[in-house]
Amino acid sequence: MSEKERLFARIDEKRDEIIEFIGTLIRTHPVNPAYSDEFDESNVQKIIKKRLKELKSVSISEFDVQLEELEEYRDMPGFTTGLTDKLPWEDRPNILAHLPGANTDKGRSFILTGHADVVAADNVSEWKYGPFDAVVQDNILYGRGSVDMLSGLGAMLMALESIVETGIELNGDLWFSSSVGEEAGGTGFLATADYIKKNDINIDAGIMGEPTDLDLSLLCRGILKGELIIEGRTGHLEVTQPHWSNGGAVDAIDKGRYVMNAIDELNKEWSTRPDKNHPLMTESNQIKIAMIEGGHQLSSYPDYCKLSFNIQVLPQESNENGLGDKVKREFETFIQRVAESDDWLREHPPKINWVSESNNAEVSEDHPFIDVFKKSANNLNPSMKTMGSGFHTDTGWLDKLGNIPTVNFGPGNQNLAHKTNEHCNVDDIITFTKIIAATCLDWCNK
Ligand SMILES: [Zn+2]
Repeated sequence: MSEKERLFARIDEKRDEIIEFIGTLIRTHPVNPAYSDEFDESNVQKIIKKRLKELKSVSISEFDVQLEELEEYRDMPGFTTGLTDKLPWEDRPNILAHLPGANTDKGRSFILTGHADVVAADNVSEWKYGPFDAVVQDNILYGRGSVDMLSGLGAMLMALESIVETGIELNGDLWFSSSVGEEAGGTGFLATADYIKKNDINIDAGIMGEPTDLDLSLLCRGILKGELIIEGRTGHLEVTQPHWSNGGAVDAIDKGRYVMNAIDELNKEWSTRPDKNHPLMTESNQIKIAMIEGGHQLSSYPDYCKLSFNIQVLPQESNENGLGDKVKREFETFIQRVAESDDWLREHPPKINWVSESNNAEVSEDHPFIDVFKKSANNLNPSMKTMGSGFHTDTGWLDKLGNIPTVNFGPGNQNLAHKTNEHCNVDDIITFTKIIAATCLDWCNK
C-alpha cells in the first residue's frame, strides 16, 4: 500500500467521525457577534484546539485579534472603521497550528486555512431541520455553516489528523489556521496574515477551504461598497410645482432613476470592456444597486434618495495591495459627468460615501502549486473546473502580507451559502478531505 492509499483508507475509516466532527462545530452556534448578542465562534476554536492538542507532533499558537497591532491597516480591507471598532475581540482567538516538516530542505511548506464563524440563520421556521442541529439525512449534512465553511474547515483539520495518525512524514512544514471574524469585515484573517508576516513564517502555498463545489478557484474579486446620496427639494406632492429655479420641488427619487439609467449604460459598456472582464469569470464587473432609500412622507416630494451600490474590482485594475483606487476614481468621474448632464444635479452634485472595501486576489495558473494540486485532485475529482469567484474571500491578505499564493477550494455549492436550509453532500466532504491529504503529500514532499 502506498502512503497515499493508506491515507485514503484511514479517511474512509474515519468517514462518520469526520462528519460528526463537523456537526459538533455547527452545533456550537458559531454566529459572528456582528449578527448576535449571544454567540460567537470561540467554541469552534476551543474544539479545534482540543483536537489539535491530541496530535503530539503539532504545536499550536493562539492569539486574540489586537486592534492596536493592526492600526496600520485602518480603513483597509479587514479593518473597516466603524464596524471593526465596534465588535468584541476578546476571547475569540485565532488558531495557527504547525506540523513541522521532517526534512524541510527537501520539502515545500503549505497552509490549510479557513474561518470559524458563520452568519445568523434567517427564517428559522422554514428550515427543514434546526439550523444548528447538524442533521444528516440521505447523505446530506444540513446546517448553518455546512457550506460556508465549517465543512471545509473541519475536513482540512481531519486531513491533517489523518496524516499524523497514519504516521506519514511530510518533508515540508504543514500549517493549519482557523480564523475568527470573517463574516463581518475579515479582521480575523487580517490578524492571521499579520501574525505570519511579523513572525517571518515562510509558507509556499495555501488552500482556503471556502465553498467552490470542489472546483478550483484561482481568483476572487475585490468589492467596493458605497452610497450615493442624491439631494432633492421637498414640496407638496399634490400641488403643481414651479420650475426648481423658481423655488419648485425636485423629486430626488426621480433624479436617482436618472443616475441609475446612466449606470445601466455604463454597465453595458463594462460588459465588453477588457479591463472589466477576466477569462475565469462568467460575468463582467458591474455596478449593482443593492438598496434604495428615499422620501420621507406620502404627500411630499422626496428630498433625498440614497442608492447603496456594490462594484467589483479585478486584480488587473487594482493597485499593489489589491485595492480599487482606480475604480473609485473612475466611478467618481462618471458620477460627475452624469451630474454635468442635468441642470439640478450640476448645482447639487450627488455625494459619494465609500463604505467599505474588500481586496481581490489571484494565483497565476502557471504557479507550480496549481500543477501539483490538479494532479493530486484529478483521480478523485476528474470533473474539477478552474474558475474565478465573483465574491470576495480572505485570500488577499495571505498573499500580500504572508506572500502565500492561496487558492479557494472547498466542498459545498456557494449558491447555498448563507441560505435557508444550507446543506452539503457528505461524499463531497470526504472527497475533499482526501484531496487535501493527497495535496499535502504531493506538495510538501516535492
Ligand atoms: Zn466563507
